[in-house]
Amino acid sequence: MDSHVAQTDVVVVGGGMAGLTAACYLARAGVAVTLFEKAAELGGRAATQVYNDYSFNRGAHALYPGGAAWCVLRELGIRYSSQSPKGTFMLRQGKLQAFPADPLTLLRTDLLQAVDKLEFTRMLAALALCKAHDLQHVSVQAWLESSTQRPRLRQVLAALARTLTYSAALDQISAEVFVTQLQLSLKHNVLYIDGGWQMLVDGLRKVAQQAGVQIVRGARVEAIEEQGGRARGVRLQDGSTVAAADVIIATNPQAAAKLVDAGCYPTLRRVVDAIVPIEAACLDVALRRLPSARHPVVFDEEHPRFLTVQSLFAKIAPQGGALIHTIKYLDPAKPSDPRADERDLEDFLDILQPGWRDELVKRSYLPRIEAVSLWPTASSGGFGGRPGPQVAGIVGVYLAGDWIGNEGYLADASMASAREVAQLILRGKRITSQPLEQSHALLQEA
Ligand SMILES: Cc1cc2nc3c(=O)[nH]c(=O)nc-3n(C[C@H](O)[C@H](O)[C@H](O)COP(=O)(O)OP(=O)(O)OC[C@H]3O[C@@H](n4cnc5c(N)ncnc54)[C@H](O)[C@@H]3O)c2cc1C
Repeated sequence: MDSHVAQTDVVVVGGGMAGLTAACYLARAGVAVTLFEKAAELGGRAATQVYNDYSFNRGAHALYPGGAAWCVLRELGIRYSSQSPKGTFMLRQGKLQAFPADPLTLLRTDLLQAVDKLEFTRMLAALALCKAHDLQHVSVQAWLESSTQRPRLRQVLAALARTLTYSAALDQISAEVFVTQLQLSLKHNVLYIDGGWQMLVDGLRKVAQQAGVQIVRGARVEAIEEQGGRARGVRLQDGSTVAAADVIIATNPQAAAKLVDAGCYPTLRRVVDAIVPIEAACLDVALRRLPSARHPVVFDEEHPRFLTVQSLFAKIAPQGGALIHTIKYLDPAKPSDPRADERDLEDFLDILQPGWRDELVKRSYLPRIEAVSLWPTASSGGFGGRPGPQVAGIVGVYLAGDWIGNEGYLADASMASAREVAQLILRGKRITSQPLEQSHALLQEA
């Protein structure tokens, strides 16, 4: 912990994308904000670890242009350089075939037969008019079955759906998630960030500090202090307290529930106890030299696996070196063995990058990282099944993160909910904030 604060207007708990975003908006509107992050560094799941000039994100990360995160970054004036990946393939029965990511590849690829291609074109046209929100209660599998009778096309779309939703359980996850992400990626290709997502975190940190946010790292918040159903501040791990009129909890659900457990607010604990996260197994490898640049991005049709040689597009490896991300999507309802998952990803690398073991500089295996804090299933109503930003029963306590609010997925949900919370607090303080109004206009434009 590198600072002492006794009083502030708003305390933010958590220095990931959500906490930093909320802090930026509030401080820019003139509110005194103190942000506490328990880790030594900011960023949470968006942090990047640098090892000998290789920048390891915590698993493959891509920014969706037009999504809430992209809009917020643009509005806050955060600059970064990025590239879109090119050259996507599908692994089917040991063969690699071009994935129809653009009209020319759709025409040429052997992945689909002519009838499938026509059907795919028809589906793409229908997708442009489809309201993702209407599919909240439909699973991806049910949506695919009702959208096309062509089994081969279904298989291709199922592999794409696993990557866009981070979920292997297509019979459970809401089609709202898949269609939202698909519509975004059809409008603009995703972006890989030079230097990794830490560049976005650092950009947010700079904006926050310039606006006057006090950032305290290595400081775990233990509890929310309240009196008569109203927040009064927070208690830190060292026993000190910080008074504040409002507290934003920008952590994952379990940490959020702990912060209010001591009070008599069982609602949040009940909500959190019912939450199932989406976890993924991620094997990332830094190589001296890339064995093959022929297949940079690969979906696997038969197994829930994905690979991307991000360093071919983003500056995340030294000259001549390569950084490859592989992911295995898991089914929350069917536990698997982390060692077997690791072997699966190694096998995938053996197929796509033979000789990778001889070039290995460093490997990072995250057997169970929380890719999404709340699994938006069809039975829970998709994004509509996520809790709102206010905690029932306590005035002045707000929630932000990828499990809050009904807008967007992944970092889009984190940053959209953070922006919403900032807006609620500013309204309560009767402060109008121009950037927030602009941000909604940007989202509508995109
Ligand atoms: C493998 C993987 C791939 C992903 N790919 C993408 C992608 O392609 N595109 C995309 O948009 N998103 C992606 N994401 C999701 C994205 O990383 C997250 O949505 C986003 O980083 C979450 O930010 P957050 O601030 O909501 O939560 P977090 O990053 O979890 O931040 C919460 C912070 O709170 C801190 N904290 C917790 N408890 C306390 C406490 N008591 N006191 C103080 N601090 C506390 C934690 O240390 C942490 O820093 C991916 C995630 C993973 C894991």
